[in-house]
Amino acid sequence: MTMTKKFLPFHLPEIGREEKKEVMNCLDSGWLTMGPRVKDFEEAFRAHSGARHAIAVSSCTAALHLSLVALGVKPGDEVLTTPYTFAATANAIIHCGARPVFVDIDRETYNIDPARLEEKITRRTKGILVVHFGGHPCDMDAINAIARRRKLFVVEDAAHALGARYRGRKVGTLGDAGCFSFYATKNITTGEGGMITTRSAAAAEKMRVYLLHGINKDAWKRYSRQGSWKYDVIFPGFKYNMADIQAAMGVPQLKKLPAMAAACKKHVAFYNAAFAGCPELTLPTVKPWAEPSWHLYPVLLGLEKLKIGRDEFIEKMKQAGIGCSVHFIPFHRHSFYRRAYGLKAKDYPNCEYVYSRTVSLPLYSRMKKSDAARVAAAVKAIIAGNRR
Ligand SMILES: *Cc1c(COP(=O)(O)O)cnc(C)c1O
Repeated sequence: MTMTKKFLPFHLPEIGREEKKEVMNCLDSGWLTMGPRVKDFEEAFRAHSGARHAIAVSSCTAALHLSLVALGVKPGDEVLTTPYTFAATANAIIHCGARPVFVDIDRETYNIDPARLEEKITRRTKGILVVHFGGHPCDMDAINAIARRRKLFVVEDAAHALGARYRGRKVGTLGDAGCFSFYATKNITTGEGGMITTRSAAAAEKMRVYLLHGINKDAWKRYSRQGSWKYDVIFPGFKYNMADIQAAMGVPQLKKLPAMAAACKKHVAFYNAAFAGCPELTLPTVKPWAEPSWHLYPVLLGLEKLKIGRDEFIEKMKQAGIGCSVHFIPFHRHSFYRRAYGLKAKDYPNCEYVYSRTVSLPLYSRMKKSDAARVAAAVKAIIAGNRR
């Protein structure tokens, strides 16, 4: 055993010559903030997503907050969501003065369980904020049917799911708004950034005004030849715009998405084959109606068959030079949400079951097949050395 093997990080973005060239062109142009490159990225994203409108913002968190505000979420309202997601999802609801109401996940896709939604609906419920966990789409027909019957909106947190399809339809176009992330670890990246897709012209118009202080026209026009210095604030909006420097990366990243997604899919096939004979592991499930975007490759450890726990497993992977992660620490395990909403682990048994066993293995396009082989070998060696 050599100790000089390079550390394989949990994630690395794929940034190439094209991104560097476009960012340099942007810097040379003298126009750094929201301007022509944001417009180009929005148009490219709109065409790719199949949505009627695409609105670039500073993050997916901003996208979620802006969507909820535009859909009319007010203080005192309730929004149903999953307990198994990143803080951003619930915080966006809380930033509206509303209350997040958590609905347990299913043990197959780790997505919000549509069968448990109705029991949590009250007079105050305004909508459902779903997360396509790891890039595996939620059962949107079941969720939309409930939403239609109970007159609720549906927002998709598609932070993991750019390019994923549900029954052939692109994720992010299946509800009232779709929110995407271009954070450094997501399907494509602009360093930080986000996008909202919607079919509603009225919602899109509101979002465009609210994302820049409630100013009733595109500020960037103010400084171009056809613009003027005059503007009017019609709502106390936010500072949620994307900058042209970010959008400069977004356009080439979006072009690379099919190749990056194909590389991830190959690694998934490799992992699936490598772990096929491993009774100590539960591999990700793919529903017949789903084409996941494979943002994550989470495996569940069969703790009953092992002498070590999940945290120790991750520590041993680290010792083997491989970065792993956990998606996610459920809300009932964070002090704020537990205290503010009286959350108890026993109310989210599936979430608790998955959380206590899950490990996300490295999965990204820059990995080589030999990296995936090294990950699989390390996982199997740790299992073999720690059977009960
Ligand atoms: C990353 C992530 C977000 C937040 O994205 P940002 O662009 O960093 O704001 C929201 N929801 C989920 C599920 C995420 O994983």
